Amino acid sequence: MSKQHEIAVIGGDGVGPEVVEAELAVLDATGAPFAYKHYDAGDDCLERTGQAMPEETLAGAKAAEAVIFGAVGASAAEVILRLRKELGAWANLRPSKAYAGVDCLRPETDMMIVRENSEGLYIGEEGERGPGVATATRVISDAASYRIARHAFEFARQAGYGKVTAVHKVNVLKKTDTVFLEACRRAAAEFDGVEYEEALVDSVAMRMILKPSDFQVMVTTNLFGDILSDLAAGLIGGLGMCPSANLGDGPGLFEPVHGSAPDIAGQGKANPSAAILCGAMLLRSLGYGDEADRVEAALAGCLAAGETTQDLGGSLSTMGMASAVVARMEG
Ligand code: ATP
Repeated sequence: MSKQHEIAVIGGDGVGPEVVEAELAVLDATGAPFAYKHYDAGDDCLERTGQAMPEETLAGAKAAEAVIFGAVGASAAEVILRLRKELGAWANLRPSKAYAGVDCLRPETDMMIVRENSEGLYIGEEGERGPGVATATRVISDAASYRIARHAFEFARQAGYGKVTAVHKVNVLKKTDTVFLEACRRAAAEFDGVEYEEALVDSVAMRMILKPSDFQVMVTTNLFGDILSDLAAGLIGGLGMCPSANLGDGPGLFEPVHGSAPDIAGQGKANPSAAILCGAMLLRSLGYGDEADRVEAALAGCLAAGETTQDLGGSLSTMGMASAVVARMEG
């Protein structure tokens, strides 16, 4: 028997457990040898146990080979930020690919934003300079920038993308973005055959809307990556279609970009596409590329044929859509 991979599963709140159930049904159909252990976290968990992020969950996530995450509500900072940090997940990968059949602004969009997750403006160092004047510290290190830039180039090479764009604001953030760009250039020099360009974040925001096909892989610092990846989601029909992976020193953490959607929770209405695409990213990260291709192709087939949940114009339930994906994989 092939090796079993232990996967920690944290469904969380709202639609989290529903989309995760759909994701697991699709993963099971690939035949990949995954053994799941389910853990508790989030708002409901806080109400029941007094803790949003139990130690057992954290230990289980750290011990696993990968973590499947659904969504959490108000306790997101205690749960997901803590998890990313404890798992050493310094790279946030957010793909935005338009699918035929999904109404969207820019159907030609197919890009991956590789966002530095461990420093930048998100280190939580804020202060006051005087009454009514606050400051925030932006930390950019050569080590973290080089690490994320290499990751972007490695991904580009692996996934067959021909270009990496480093997104910056060096004309204003002279010191920090010089460190970032110098590290990116060093990484670029190590990857023959992948084109490298640098672009100012403001011009990138405009070009993404006017001509998204200009971009393939983008590497950028924490805040810019956060904003641009939502912009990219807007190009392809919204957050419901966007998976994400948090990778780094420990197990990968795979989570849909959407939240717990309490307004539709418990009704079988949640669109499982983002979670199913998370499953494909997880498969790929553990070396199951063919299985990931099958999942993506089956999902694309469902989307093109209108075998979808109501938010995308179809009439299927969350698990109904998962079954339709599975049927295409097996058909
Ligand atoms: P949270 O507080 O967890 O962030 P939220 O409702 O503020 O929840 P989202 O969960 O991202 O934020 O939801 C934003 C909107 O998108 C809601 O109207 C929600 O119903 C819808 N939505 C989010 N995820 C899905 C999904 N998977 N399928 C269908 N609709 C979704």
